[in-house]
Amino acid sequence: MTYMSLSLKKTAKSSLINEQIEHQRLTSLINSMADAVIAVDVKGRVVLYNGATLNILDINTLKTNTSLSRIFKPVDKDNQPVDILHMVQSTLIPTTNRDLRLQYADGSLINLYLSIAPVHLGYGQEGQSGYVLLLRDITREKSLEEERDEFISVVSHELRTPITISEGNISNAQMIVDRSGDIDMVKKALKDAHTQVLFLADMINDLSTLSRAERGTLEVKVETINVHDLFMELVRDYTPQAKARGLEIKTVLDPKLEVVYSTKLYVREILQNFITNAIKYTEKGGVTLSAKPVAKGVEFAVSDTGIGISKSDQERVFDKFFRSEDYRTRQSNGTGLGLYVTMKLARLIHAEISMESELNVGSTFKIFVPNLQ
Ligand code: ADP
Repeated sequence: MTYMSLSLKKTAKSSLINEQIEHQRLTSLINSMADAVIAVDVKGRVVLYNGATLNILDINTLKTNTSLSRIFKPVDKDNQPVDILHMVQSTLIPTTNRDLRLQYADGSLINLYLSIAPVHLGYGQEGQSGYVLLLRDITREKSLEEERDEFISVVSHELRTPITISEGNISNAQMIVDRSGDIDMVKKALKDAHTQVLFLADMINDLSTLSRAERGTLEVKVETINVHDLFMELVRDYTPQAKARGLEIKTVLDPKLEVVYSTKLYVREILQNFITNAIKYTEKGGVTLSAKPVAKGVEFAVSDTGIGISKSDQERVFDKFFRSEDYRTRQSNGTGLGLYVTMKLARLIHAEISMESELNVGSTFKIFVPNLQ
């Protein structure tokens, strides 16, 4: 064997080894991906796939040559079956889709991102044509997107009514001044406009607290809260509002109770939300604030003798923008954000909220505030 042929053999061998290393690298790369990668031939038969494919398609095994349509049966956003083979085979340029869904055997539904790219599989002349599919579970992104869209649509809808009413009343007031100058009518129009502007201010406040709570920029600073003083402040602040509706505010304070260690601003805001609701949704009787020491903290309760909350509504009162359809609820202004914000604040200070209510009898909102030190 000449030196020449020996070295040629060596080069061929090392390039084979290099190719194998390259192949292993690529295999471990696509196997480490969280997205499913499936290569199919022109007839839609599986040629290659990575580990995540089994996960995303929720199957135990996958044999090469299996038809894609047997293992991947997506539905569209109206739950109509999609002819995946046709979709793949009609792809001429790389395309993506974010509207497909996949139903798993346990009934759960996931949202999928699917990209399809026509490719030439393999090298040189022997290579075959086909398609590479990439599938990603985008359920979480989709639900965040939907939540954001719904939020924007509800906020703009909720803002529109008070803005229209206040604009109408202000332009009415201007017209009355120009025409008759009837001061009582002007006063009434301005009063109605003012009520709506106050409502808007409340809503913007709730939204701002909410956005800070959601972005995690609200600070939890632990301080000593004197429960007696806190109750006195709340009674002083809310008695005028309660009186205006012919209601009485009572307090029941356990004499053994002195302080709790938490963030005063949030404990106060949570109780304020409970109290304003108790006053708003009570037609006769009153509101009772109570507090008692419990293991590792304090339990506060705000009870009312109001309209109560039906069983089905009880499950939804902490939802964003939820307001009961009960006509008595609709008699007073509200954003449906108060209890949602309350829940966010409670989480920040590790407090637990519970509620009991009976329609036409009354409601009790309780909060356990743990000592944070
Ligand atoms: P709102 O601005 O409508 O008061 P909240 O988030 O504070 O919003 O409350 C959501 C809904 O829960 C209210 O619209 C009402 O239907 C119900 N609710 C809350 N507190 C009470 C209560 N004390 N009595 C009766 N219904 C209540």
